[in-house]
Amino acid sequence: MLKASNYNFFYPNGEEIIAYNSFSNSLVQLNKEDYQEYLEAIDQNIAEEDKTPVIIELIRCGFLVDHSYDELSILRHRMYQSRYTTGVLGLTIAPTTCCNFRCVYCYEDKIHRDVVMDNSTQQAIIDYVKKCADKIDRMYVSWYGGEPLLALNIIEKLSDAFMDICKEKSVEYSASIVTNGYLLNRQTAQLLVDKKVQECQITIDGDQENHDKRRPHYSGKGTYDTIIKNIIDIDGILPYVAIRVNTDKKNTDAVNKIIDIIKEHNLKSYFPYAAPVHDYGGDYCVGECFSQKAFIEYEYTNLMQIGNPEYIMAKYPTLRDNVCCADSLGGMIINADGKLYKCWQDIGNDELSYGNIKDDTINEMNEILYLKNDPTRDPKCSECKMLPICMGGCPRQRRLGEQERCIYYDEISALYMKRFAQILEEDLEAKEKQN
Ligand code: SF4
Ligand code: SF4
Repeated sequence: MLKASNYNFFYPNGEEIIAYNSFSNSLVQLNKEDYQEYLEAIDQNIAEEDKTPVIIELIRCGFLVDHSYDELSILRHRMYQSRYTTGVLGLTIAPTTCCNFRCVYCYEDKIHRDVVMDNSTQQAIIDYVKKCADKIDRMYVSWYGGEPLLALNIIEKLSDAFMDICKEKSVEYSASIVTNGYLLNRQTAQLLVDKKVQECQITIDGDQENHDKRRPHYSGKGTYDTIIKNIIDIDGILPYVAIRVNTDKKNTDAVNKIIDIIKEHNLKSYFPYAAPVHDYGGDYCVGECFSQKAFIEYEYTNLMQIGNPEYIMAKYPTLRDNVCCADSLGGMIINADGKLYKCWQDIGNDELSYGNIKDDTINEMNEILYLKNDPTRDPKCSECKMLPICMGGCPRQRRLGEQERCIYYDEISALYMKRFAQILEEDLEAKEKQN
């Protein structure tokens, strides 16, 4: 017997209905007759030979499922499988805590200790990777900081060691970097590519005036000109560079200014996006930061004004089994002093460290700090139809008891889905015309 999936959304759109299923991540357009067929199939036993093409498609896309299919249990199963998989090793490594910027909102301000990773810590990481290499198929490293490019020699040395180990053990290796972009010239970008860094994230704060005020060099000078020059210079070297534009209520057009620069110079490798500045307790954000919901609304309005289908489609949801390194056993954040953490935002906070790469002592309660969360048993999330594409949101926000952690809201999701459907249809029509 068939039943309706718990994860169906139907959005009336003129004569049509846009149907989205978050369990399968499928988006389809139905006419009124199709929708009627769907309604009539619920709680029915339909023999194979009697299933119409519409019903077959709705089953294939997960809108109709067998009565015995317990979607929540399947989500829970996939979540635990993904969290405790032993085949993947994901290391986030801060080769230094030093930074050449003094950002006004930097959560690390309180924990700047200007530590550069010493040889014994580097060796301990290499030994750990050697120990894991027999059991894994894939390893990825995110270079983080401080500003990781201040310790390029360490990135080089560790990357060489990781690549050698992975080659010997037939483990797939890849890397990414989060940098402020100040030192990212052509030579450095090429070196990173040689060390298998495929993705890069540069953070910027909009126009020169805002950026230089918010993200000055430690000498007090502005940093904007140098970053923009580097962005223009390195185009095409690193395969993918995300430009995260920190946005609050005072610089809502910041991301658009970066898009203008990309257009003006016809740059190819970049993906700019607005990201909310969070209030990490400093004095910067009082009254300035967006609430989560207000940011989602702002982002939607701004994206529609820009109108670029590629940027809009980048907001299409992705299925999640777990959220991030924090709720994955194989996710490990290693600070320059060797201390281990589960979440990027906790780095440097001794109380949340779960050990040190240089010894075997593990603080298990900190190790499972985020792994013990189970959104499939949370009263709100377990009932939420967005669960398969959200999995409860940021585990740290959950730990801190932040109420506003939902990254999806019905009204905005409906608007996005209609726009996605329109873009996909236009795309299809254009392809048909070509053929
Ligand atoms: S817990 Fe939240 S802040 Fe920490 S790494 Fe995960 S998503 Fe990021
Ligand atoms: S955090 Fe919000 S959007 Fe995400 S699953 Fe929970 S209730 Fe749903």
